[in-house]
Amino acid sequence: MSNTEIDLAQRLARVNARIEAAARQAGRDPAEITLLAVSKTKPLEMVDAFATLGQRHFGENYVQEGVAKQQQRPDLIWHMIGPIQSNKTRLIAEHFDWVHAIDRFKIARRLSEQRPVEKGPLPVLIEVNTSNEPTKAGVMPDEALALAEQILALPSLELRGLMTIPARSQGLENQRRPFRLLRETLERINRALGVELNELSMGMSGDLEAAILEGATIVRVGTDLFGPRDYGARAQA
Ligand SMILES: *Cc1c(COP(=O)(O)O)cnc(C)c1O
Repeated sequence: MSNTEIDLAQRLARVNARIEAAARQAGRDPAEITLLAVSKTKPLEMVDAFATLGQRHFGENYVQEGVAKQQQRPDLIWHMIGPIQSNKTRLIAEHFDWVHAIDRFKIARRLSEQRPVEKGPLPVLIEVNTSNEPTKAGVMPDEALALAEQILALPSLELRGLMTIPARSQGLENQRRPFRLLRETLERINRALGVELNELSMGMSGDLEAAILEGATIVRVGTDLFGPRDYGARAQA
């Protein structure tokens, strides 16, 4: 292995060890937590290196970039985690295996209509704004139930749970609060609609422990696996 590959192997081992430790602290089985490696802006060579080390799930924010990587590595599982414009839904429906950030019925309906039948229903999550900041994406917690009910009626989507990107905060207790709110929102939806949605996509490099303590089933980690991102002139969408 090259020095870079050894470095990536160490980073992956370190993140997996953090997931295991947090799961143990929460009295949970680490196997019920999926590590989503967020490869946005990073080259396919790094994806290949992580795949060689056994990593299967990768997350992308930008549609074209994600589609290009998916076409090179159709054997891996590709999650669209970025905001979605309606003119991009067809590419997403055709190329991605999961979609995390649905916050409008219009987007959900287009994805359902455009999902190729042979691919089967597309697993999706509703993005919830858990920080009570109007600038943040996602539906407010009390709007999630109505959107969930609408999405459950769509034939080619499979609603699996909720996701959130909270405002940055310091300290475990502060970090746990929005994640707890997401879990409670999912529990409320399950009770009200008589369903058993069980995916909570929450936690990133800086707060995955807090998320796991509150029940995260998917943690989305970029920086601590791939290193810092250099956006250059590109806006951080
Ligand atoms: C970029 C991104 C991540 C990864 O964040 P890191 O702090 O680099 O781990 C996770 N989730 C979403 C939605 C992102 O856009």
